[in-house]
Amino acid sequence: MKVVFVASELVPFAKTGGLADVAGALPLALEKIGVDVVAYLPKYKCVTVDRDETVLGKTVSVRFIKHKKYFYRDGLYGTERGDHKDNLQRFTYFCQEVLKDLKARNERVDIIHCHDWQAALIPVYLKTLYRNDPFFKDVKTVFTVHNLGYQGIFPKKLFNQTHLPKALFSIDGLEFYNNINLLKGGLLFSDILTTVSPTYSEEIKMREFGYGLDGVLRVRSDSLFGILNGIDQVSWNPETDETIAAPFNPGDIGKKLINKRDLQRECGLDEKDSAPLIGVISRLADQKGIDLVANALTALMEELGIQFVLLGTGEEKYHKLFQDLAERYRGTGSFNIRFDNALAKKIYAGSDFFLMPSKYEPCGLGQMISLRYGTIPIVRKTGGLADTVTEYNPETGSGNGFVFEAYDPRALVSAVRRALSVFQMPAKMDELRRIAMNEDFSWGRSAGEYKKIYTEVLSAVTV
Ligand code: ADP
Repeated sequence: MKVVFVASELVPFAKTGGLADVAGALPLALEKIGVDVVAYLPKYKCVTVDRDETVLGKTVSVRFIKHKKYFYRDGLYGTERGDHKDNLQRFTYFCQEVLKDLKARNERVDIIHCHDWQAALIPVYLKTLYRNDPFFKDVKTVFTVHNLGYQGIFPKKLFNQTHLPKALFSIDGLEFYNNINLLKGGLLFSDILTTVSPTYSEEIKMREFGYGLDGVLRVRSDSLFGILNGIDQVSWNPETDETIAAPFNPGDIGKKLINKRDLQRECGLDEKDSAPLIGVISRLADQKGIDLVANALTALMEELGIQFVLLGTGEEKYHKLFQDLAERYRGTGSFNIRFDNALAKKIYAGSDFFLMPSKYEPCGLGQMISLRYGTIPIVRKTGGLADTVTEYNPETGSGNGFVFEAYDPRALVSAVRRALSVFQMPAKMDELRRIAMNEDFSWGRSAGEYKKIYTEVLSAVTV
């Protein structure tokens, strides 16, 4: 089976978010179970390899689409000053060149697996411009939505840049409130749709989460599947992690305390073993529930006596808010407004709990990484968080974290109270840490589910 990945970011070459991790890791996991994958990526300025094609793993080719004017510049989609003005032209070009390149190579392809709005024109082209092209006749398309909040919306007057027939600017096509919506095209024209967790695949069919596309997703409901992302078990491994003070495994969970002390020292917190330490590593954006954290903070710090370490960057309003708090909570709160991989690892390893109160969360990596490091997640029940974290019951030993439902600071504080009651029972807390560390969030599991979907779509009879 031959699958072509089309993605606008891919680790290790270009990354702004979770899509890059998926596009970099999933092909390697598929390779291990006998799927032949090639991937296409724009050759951005940050891609420093000389060649136009390179190999990841044993056989996964990554091919770069080159265009000096479109791709050789700072920022994948934009800079601090805003989105690049010619994004529609840039990603139209990307999609068209991928199809041209496949055809020029005369390579047999079974599936083209497209990711997010930047690759969404490919399924549209295949069902329109290339409809009668024998080369693509049996090729099926799978389209994955990584975050429905990003849709690739452009003004109507640019529609000719897509090179699509005018008739496609309609309610059954790419038209969306009198604008062009590329994601909508991907959702309507692909054979199979997937998103990055089972719960999110249900949520996006509802008005509240649908960003205006819930109706389209309801229509395509029979073809929509949720497959949970994995995490890279090699780069996130507490047993071999050289960044943390004391690497550990489920058998010597006591070493977490050494990591906690190290984190306290590093962040200028009082070195107190008995203080429950809660970590947050997040984009500081409304999506991540940062306003809930801000609203719950006084109760957490002043009533529950926790220590708190935050690491994140994002919206200016949150930068200011947390910088102002640094003074007030000297010794108990540490607010780190920057991107810092090393500190992230120390927080995953040294915290007792990891807080992720997202408003919505397509999949989420933080909660899976924290589980792997024996740090217990406290999450809001939404999207991938609902699929990976369940409430711990100290009586039965079931569950792996703490979960609250209402988007309300009081619900968050009450989940933290439940977590702290377990923290007061060291034997239970160690049991819970071991449960957390034994969870399997490997890419192997996800890859198996994608392969199943590829196999099914290839064997489906086309009518
Ligand atoms: P999203 O992709 O929506 O931002 P995820 O939970 O899927 O959220 O992934 C976020 C990833 O980025 C996690 O691996 C997290 O550790 C990392 N991360 C987020 N902010 C920072 C930061 N300021 N410094 C270091 N790592 C960060």
